[in-house]
Amino acid sequence: NSIDSDLAGPAPRHQTTQVKVGDVTVGGGAPIVVQSMTNTDTADIDGTIAQVAALARAGSEMVRITVDREEAAAAVPHIRDGLAKRGITTPLIGDFHYIGHKLLAEHPACAEALAKYRINPGNVGFKDKRDTQFADIIEIANKNNKPVRIGANWGSLDQELLTKLMDENAASPSPRDVRAVTREAMVQSALLSAARAQELGMPKDRIILSAKVSAVQDLIAVYQDLASRSDYAIHLGLTEAGMGSKGIVASSAALGILLQQGIGDTIRISLTPEPGGDRTREVQVGQELLQTMGFRTFVPLVAACPGCGRTTSTTFQELARSIQDFIRDEMPTWKTKYPGVEELNVAVMGCIVNGPGESKHANIGISLPGTGEAPAAPVFVDGKKFRTLRGPGIAADFKALVIDYIDQ
Ligand code: SF4
Repeated sequence: NSIDSDLAGPAPRHQTTQVKVGDVTVGGGAPIVVQSMTNTDTADIDGTIAQVAALARAGSEMVRITVDREEAAAAVPHIRDGLAKRGITTPLIGDFHYIGHKLLAEHPACAEALAKYRINPGNVGFKDKRDTQFADIIEIANKNNKPVRIGANWGSLDQELLTKLMDENAASPSPRDVRAVTREAMVQSALLSAARAQELGMPKDRIILSAKVSAVQDLIAVYQDLASRSDYAIHLGLTEAGMGSKGIVASSAALGILLQQGIGDTIRISLTPEPGGDRTREVQVGQELLQTMGFRTFVPLVAACPGCGRTTSTTFQELARSIQDFIRDEMPTWKTKYPGVEELNVAVMGCIVNGPGESKHANIGISLPGTGEAPAAPVFVDGKKFRTLRGPGIAADFKALVIDYIDQ
């Protein structure tokens, strides 16, 4: 069987209406945007500035912050100013639930400082004429020319809508699975709210939709449905993804499949940080997902073999890790100094079996000596053997060669 190369690669991107969030473009064929969310108390101005700055430095292109009470809403303009003083212009998105309409109405400086408002249709009503919460937020967004994300969530789904669909399903001659009805409620909640926002005068190019679920198969089904029934810009994310490898695997599986199908204009990897863990991890995972799938390049990634019985020491793992960390730390500076540096490929390999071959495919690669091999580490630059490193300083010497390569 031959492989038809025309069939390789992702499906064409689902055509969506382009939305501007601050100076970031979402949807309509724009590069897929990586975003994240703080976990600081937004009323803690300094703490929130520090975390937004760290997320932005890690590459988060938009950052969402919780706006849950008066003190948080009052802090938002100060956070925006504090970030501006540090030269950080990353758009801030306000995450509103329940009383967002009041907070935005009572804090116009907050409404102005935010680049987008997230509305949860599960806890902000609009169906009853007496209930103006949703309309109030849309009116404020319209007045300030701000986009909104209408974000349905499995954990806070519109109960009235769900009950209605469940009742209709129960009365149907061929009732559907309960999960399927819940998925339909998610999609309808997002679409009905978007239609209502448009009725209230919000243009389509200021609406982003999301419908987050915590189970991978449900998430894929919900977003496929959402994409097939609308052309609103789409924010992808697996909610409550979990800690450590579980959160990364589940998010990558779900988002990877949807992105391959052309669905998704902006992503967030919602990881539960380990106690004391680094919040920027979710940005890194989001970038690596897009980069390994070939959608975008953010940072040179180090290709490294897994190591095996032929690996003689931990030097090679340590070298691979230290090179990757070093590159990531330097990227904010390198990006401005060396345009295109993110395209660089580096390989760190454990022995002669795959080492020289893989290293030749990289811009710069090293093949460390495996068991029974002479204690020498050939370095390959642009596919050709460049030098052989020896002795205890191999790691430092290779790092210096990587810096020289980038510098040139
Ligand atoms: Fe093992 Fe060598 Fe393959 Fe690395 S390159 S996994 S050390 S055989």
